[in-house]
Amino acid sequence: LLYSAIFGRSYCAAVCPHGAIQDIVLVKAIEVPDWLEHCLGILPFIWLGLGVLYAATGAAYIICDFDPFVALFRLDGNASMLGLGALFLIVGMFIGRPYCRYMCPYGVLLRLFSYVSKWQIKIYPDRCINCGLCDYSCPYGAIRKTTAHDSTTVKKGKRQLMMLIIIAPFFLALGGWLTSLISNQMAMGHRYVKLAHLVEQEDLQIAKGMKNIIEDERTEAFRQHPQFVGPKPTDSFKITGKNYQERRANLFKYASDLRHSFYIGSWALGIWVALVIIVKLIKLSIKRTRLEYEADRGSCYACGRCYEFCPGSNGVPVQAETGSHIRE
Ligand code: SF4
Ligand code: SF4
Repeated sequence: LLYSAIFGRSYCAAVCPHGAIQDIVLVKAIEVPDWLEHCLGILPFIWLGLGVLYAATGAAYIICDFDPFVALFRLDGNASMLGLGALFLIVGMFIGRPYCRYMCPYGVLLRLFSYVSKWQIKIYPDRCINCGLCDYSCPYGAIRKTTAHDSTTVKKGKRQLMMLIIIAPFFLALGGWLTSLISNQMAMGHRYVKLAHLVEQEDLQIAKGMKNIIEDERTEAFRQHPQFVGPKPTDSFKITGKNYQERRANLFKYASDLRHSFYIGSWALGIWVALVIIVKLIKLSIKRTRLEYEADRGSCYACGRCYEFCPGSNGVPVQAETGSHIRE
């Protein structure tokens, strides 16, 4: 991360095997429409937020558990993860680094750090002749095109910006509130919350006399021959150790604390996602005049392809006074 803060996303270019495998399979990159790129670009931020929430509550390391390439690299993993990895590679034949762009949570951190980098990729800034070849060569849509100054667009952008700043606090609160509505469902991803739920359901069924006799027999069979009868989570919990009622009370208390943590965490997650969306909209509303093609600090994977295409790197003469190229 520190390296990214100084040199941009060189980790993505030169170290990460996930990036490398996607680069290997790339055949012909097609351009992703801007609106789709912006929408899909929010997914890694959501995935990162979910990953932090589940890790912080001790529920699971979902980022590792659902990494689509680890199963491929280890030649070991369940079919769904291998399938997801294969899907990313198939899509990656025509869309440059889809995992990096639309899922990688570590890429989010590298992106944020690389925004402040001092020595990130610059495509011969004093030699740009606005030929657009770098844009053509970049498979990841990381080149920002030139934009002419247009006072009407700038004014419109300023109005949008004002509006976004005004609605931002409400939007963040809405994001937090909406996500908190599904906090209980998210908490079920924690094994102890799930266990407490199952025990509660089962005890309710017993109290109502609805419990299936086969289930009782199964529990009894497990008690006598645990090696032959696969345990249900509730079986193990009920017959392991003494003082079932005390353990039950402790389990429920722990699950309730976890649900509370998920409730707080889901607010934070919702605010985080809303913040990402609002910052993206603010960024889009700011109309900059750009005179030269530039590599976007956050999106550029520092692969260096554009250098190869840029005439600035091929000895095209530069006018001494203006610093611009002479078109041949
Ligand atoms: S974005 Fe993520 S997966 Fe892609 S190269 Fe960077 S760290 Fe690796
Ligand atoms: S270095 Fe690679 S990713 Fe960055 S702008 Fe150039 S071609 Fe695109």
